Amino acid sequence: MAAMDIANHLRRHKKSLTRARTEIWRILTQSEKPLSPNEIHRRLNTPKANLATVYRNLRALQDVGLVREIDLREAFKRYEAILAGRHVHHIMCQVCGRIDKIRHCMIQDMANAIQKESGFTLEDHYLECFGICPSCQPHKTEAQGA
Ligand SMILES: [Zn+2]
Ligand SMILES: [Zn+2]
Repeated sequence: MAAMDIANHLRRHKKSLTRARTEIWRILTQSEKPLSPNEIHRRLNTPKANLATVYRNLRALQDVGLVREIDLREAFKRYEAILAGRHVHHIMCQVCGRIDKIRHCMIQDMANAIQKESGFTLEDHYLECFGICPSCQPHKTEAQGA
């Protein structure tokens, strides 16, 4: 979404496009992984923007559906931009904390079954995965020796 579109989107929700909001949006759209408020704060160029500013603006962007909160079981939540046609899930390494994207959505594959069983229409879902990344997996030779 271009800066102009965000401005319109925010205006429809009676919120203005502040410099901090524009910057947070830019930082999130440019990031390969969901970011913590601290990581966003460190990347901000806006003078005088403190961590509370980041939290407040993340909340505003979340309220209008531009940003999604991601819980990877850390002491903090992470945030990512909601971009049309870029629906992703994440998998986090429980050893080194590496976060990768899972672009293929298994939930969409199961949508029919979920709707049939529940009688609901499926509007949204939330799925984050945890595991051990290739670099943290014990080498095959070690595993054989154990
Ligand atoms: Zn790892
Ligand atoms: Zn999905």
